[in-house]
Amino acid sequence: MVDGPGFRTSVYCAGCRHACVGCHNPQSWDFGGGHEMTIEQIMRVIEADPFANVTFSGGDPMYQAAGFAELARTIHQRTNKDIWCFTGFTFESLIQPEQRELLNELDVLVDGPFVQSLRDENLLFRGSSNQRLIDVQASLYSGTIVLWEPAPILFTTQR
Ligand code: SF4
Repeated sequence: MVDGPGFRTSVYCAGCRHACVGCHNPQSWDFGGGHEMTIEQIMRVIEADPFANVTFSGGDPMYQAAGFAELARTIHQRTNKDIWCFTGFTFESLIQPEQRELLNELDVLVDGPFVQSLRDENLLFRGSSNQRLIDVQASLYSGTIVLWEPAPILFTTQR
């Protein structure tokens, strides 16, 4: 529930080189710290919950962008789940072909390193105010950063 809106299955990858001071998950920095899983093994976990959407986190999935792009394509082929991804890279710096491939499959990217001096506990789904919730498909389409906004909640006083 903290990795994006609603109930989600979060895939935490091993490996990150950003070394942000104050990182919430430094045990995930080691690229050898996890265990290998196939796309099918991860899909079994994801498909076990028909109501949960999906978040890629870590570590930083952009260091394994080709594998996560394949996983994201499989998710979209077999389910109607949306996909969020957390990365310490900025959107503008993701120029490797496999990173663009992964971006093509994402709904929302939470980008940028965690900056301790900009920490704010009131921010939605991110730790520091430099990080952005980016509507990836709208941004790719328009060629400019489009921020994701939560759907408005409609209230009524009538019964
Ligand atoms: S990008 Fe995320 S996982 Fe990597 S060091 Fe920064 S806060 Fe930690």
